[in-house]
Amino acid sequence: MTLNEKNIHKAAEFLRKSKFTTAYTGAGISVESGIPPFRGEGGLWTKYDPNLLDIDHFIQDPLRAWEIIKEIYYSHFGSAKPNKAHLVLAEMEQRGLLGRTITQNIDNLHQEAGCKNVFDFHGNSKRLVCLSCHTYYAVTDVNLDHLPPACRQCGGLLKPDYVFFGESIPQIPLSAAYEAAKISDVFLIIGTTGEVMPANQFPLIAKENGATIIEVNPHESNYTSAVTDIFLQGKATEMMELLAEALFTPSLDND
Ligand code: NAD
Repeated sequence: MTLNEKNIHKAAEFLRKSKFTTAYTGAGISVESGIPPFRGEGGLWTKYDPNLLDIDHFIQDPLRAWEIIKEIYYSHFGSAKPNKAHLVLAEMEQRGLLGRTITQNIDNLHQEAGCKNVFDFHGNSKRLVCLSCHTYYAVTDVNLDHLPPACRQCGGLLKPDYVFFGESIPQIPLSAAYEAAKISDVFLIIGTTGEVMPANQFPLIAKENGATIIEVNPHESNYTSAVTDIFLQGKATEMMELLAEALFTPSLDND
């Protein structure tokens, strides 16, 4: 057995015995759906200026910001579909093996895969919100041929309902993440560097509270040597497919 195979079986055992597991996901889980991460090779910040997602910048020049936002999030990645890793998490949830998913992603792919207990820590790109009257719209109900899009109720500026730099984290996912870090006995981290504050603290809090940390990533992250107990080194789809095989095949143990 290779080290990864041993680790897959060890991870499956922890997940089977767990009373409450939280999946904690980042941009890496969606890379194989065709959405690049922010950092590293092919990352969005190698092509675009991060100021694009700064709230002050957006308000000062909404037309310019919207042109690029539309290009990245709605033209290029709008048709991305969930991959095997999203689907395995959804199946784990259905089988009672996953209590909650906290995602830093804004792509809605966990929900499209069928996951129900998902908290979008950084909001969701499939919704727009009016900055004046706070009316929400499905992006499919808004015409993005005319930028910047305006609210049909009050004429105010519409913004994607995800968290820009300079904005605070919405209260519901924030509380859900703190609670998950308190009550989980397994934290399954997939595809995140752990560099974005305050999202990056939850695996650390979970570890302090006694959770076993399982991590999936092709590369070591800030968590790997600090808190990870079982490192499944590889792409999210490959590792989650192996994990599903080990997890969904009946165990010969008497547990
Ligand atoms: P990041 O861009 O900082 O890092 C991505 C991580 O994914 C890295 O650790 C990398 O090694 C790993 N990775 C790359 N390919 C992978 C694969 N095939 N399988 C598994 N892991 C893989 O991403 P982050 O830490 O999540 O934080 C950046 C911020 O970017 C988040 O706040 C998030 O909101 C935002 N973001 C979201 C999306 C999206 O919605 N899909 C895309 C880009 C950025």
